[in-house]
Amino acid sequence: MDCLFCAINDKTIPATIVYEDDTVLAFRDIAPQAPTHILVIPKKHISTLNDIEQVDETLLGHMVHTAKKLAADEGLADNGYRLIMNCNADSGQTVFHIHLHIVGGHRLQMSLG
Ligand code: 5GP
Ligand code: ZN
Repeated sequence: MDCLFCAINDKTIPATIVYEDDTVLAFRDIAPQAPTHILVIPKKHISTLNDIEQVDETLLGHMVHTAKKLAADEGLADNGYRLIMNCNADSGQTVFHIHLHIVGGHRLQMSLG
């Protein structure tokens, strides 16, 4: 399968990895939109949020829990941060392997443009 984030998970494409365990990988976004911009992905390939199933509930929860810990590691916990998951064209999803964006480090605007 030709998937950029599976390739990052396989280490065939380099990324700045900040966390890894048996089920998730986290790495810095190549085009950061804020001082901290990290992506948390499941190691299992899931194309979009539309494809998650009940069996993935624990995995999705683990992604959020990992994001919370990484946000704290980045010093974002007190001032705050945002978690974002995009789904399909209207959201602007460009990589079709689900990923949780962690963005923070300055005051974020609430633009849904
Ligand atoms: P989406 O718009 O699909 O929610 O977000 C995809 C994200 O992946 C974007 O923020 C983009 O900058 C990031 N991205 C795209 N290609 C690469 C890459 O090769 N390496 C890394 N680290 N991030 C990437
Ligand atoms: Zn993939």
